[in-house]
Amino acid sequence: MSDDLKRNLDELEGHLARFVGRTLTHFVAGSADAGVSAATFSNTTPIDNSLINTVAAANAADVDRAVLAAQDAFPRWRQLAGGERRAVLHAVADGIEARAREIALLESYDTGQPIAFMSKAAIRGAENFRFYADKAPEATNGLSMPAQAHLNYSIRQPIGPVAVITPWNTPFMLSTWKIAPALAAGCTVVHKPAEWSPLTASLLAEICHDAGVPPGVLNTIHGTGEEAGRALTEHPGIKAIAFVGGSQTGREIMQQGAMTLKRVHFELGGKNPVIVFADADLDRALDAVTFMIYSLNGERCTASSRLLVESTIYEEFTQRVAARAESLVLGHPLDPNTEIGPLIHPEHLAKVLGYFEQARAEGADISVGGERSGDTGNFVKPTLFTNADNAMRISQEEIFGPVLTAIAFSDEADAVRLANDVPYGLAAYVWTGDSGRSHRVAHALDAGMIWLNSENNRHLPTPFGGMKASGIGRDGGDYSFDFYMETKNVCVALGTHAVPSLGR
Ligand code: NAD
Repeated sequence: MSDDLKRNLDELEGHLARFVGRTLTHFVAGSADAGVSAATFSNTTPIDNSLINTVAAANAADVDRAVLAAQDAFPRWRQLAGGERRAVLHAVADGIEARAREIALLESYDTGQPIAFMSKAAIRGAENFRFYADKAPEATNGLSMPAQAHLNYSIRQPIGPVAVITPWNTPFMLSTWKIAPALAAGCTVVHKPAEWSPLTASLLAEICHDAGVPPGVLNTIHGTGEEAGRALTEHPGIKAIAFVGGSQTGREIMQQGAMTLKRVHFELGGKNPVIVFADADLDRALDAVTFMIYSLNGERCTASSRLLVESTIYEEFTQRVAARAESLVLGHPLDPNTEIGPLIHPEHLAKVLGYFEQARAEGADISVGGERSGDTGNFVKPTLFTNADNAMRISQEEIFGPVLTAIAFSDEADAVRLANDVPYGLAAYVWTGDSGRSHRVAHALDAGMIWLNSENNRHLPTPFGGMKASGIGRDGGDYSFDFYMETKNVCVALGTHAVPSLGR
């Protein structure tokens, strides 16, 4: 065991003490809340699947209490001046920064994501709060649209209490990405984090409370999607659902929210292409291709899980990717040298292993990996499938692990056709030395986000989201406010126009 790993484990032990042997509760109306449901579920670490703690599982009555708390808190929170909300949200960012090590260590242990990435993710969470803190004072701004005899202007107002439902991959950062703009807009929130990674959601609720977010403004309830998630999405007191997760769950949530006509924002799955043309800077492309599938254990919605390579360089380039995949450092997620940790849960491990069987059955070559690593914990070897075609299930379905499918293309039109021939449309990456072509391809691709000669590089004002089965709506910058707020138009006469006069 390296000294760094030992140091991290020692530090983790201190932070874990408050969870081990206890039942993690909800956080409602400003305090820890055991709930009325007696049900609990187990939370395990993917390192060896041992129990970390038990977690309270909310039922419909618990959800109802959390929604009532959000409803009660809404009138005061929405009326707070934007500048006051800005100060509170900056204090949240300060709180996250002060506890960033604790967040990173716990999240790494809870999810299996390497600490090297989780440290950055915790800091990104603080940045999300800072960014939206500064936007809070302008959230209500609208447009001025004067006409001949009338002045029209629009204003934006918070929609009301909203549900935020999040998945288990980088859960802390993702939660802040939804919760920060909702709070900046003046909405109150009921957050339901994923069952497989509940720890840091409770830290976020605590940090917000300590920073001065008033009771009831952010409520966190733990529980299953089927019971707590369903009750939340069906609740008439919730005005909108911000959901990050799988596409099938998105379909179910849309149905559940239909009877109460809820606004939905979906960030769903992906099967994102990275297209590498022969004229690209292949060294930089190699780094980016390797990073975008094998970082974060491949459990990343924007992972470039389909590598489309121009046929003239296919053999050489895929061999270089194979060499990289083979030398990735698999290990304990709390070891700072680890590049790949264990997958989140045995069920997810079984799903990913199933795709190794599928690749063999479909006749692709398994150039690297294709098997489990060790028999403790949920480790799989980084994997590269070659000589695949786009119709195979390994090319069409989101695997959500460190698993890359490489497909050859003949020319630009073929690359675009293959890239678009999947149900998803979240992200796409294009590598070429021809700038005209890079833009042509970007315009032709069915994806909400396109990176040209770059890996996923986020700039918070830009729109984030997908098309087709990858989502509905955009986050980021002002786009988030369009979701969390109602736009209202006010039309006022200048007193000069003729009012129609009936029944004289
Ligand atoms: P999931 O859909 O199984 O679960 C996500 C959340 O939804 C969990 O909190 C779960 O409890 C809840 N849920 C499940 N069923 C529900 C229901 N019927 N009603 C209400 N809530 C319900 O997803 P997951 O396995 O946790 O996460 C992986 C998925 O998330 C992948 O498909 C990945 O691509 C996607 N994801 C997308 C983005 C993005 O920005 N597009 C980001 C991260 C993850």
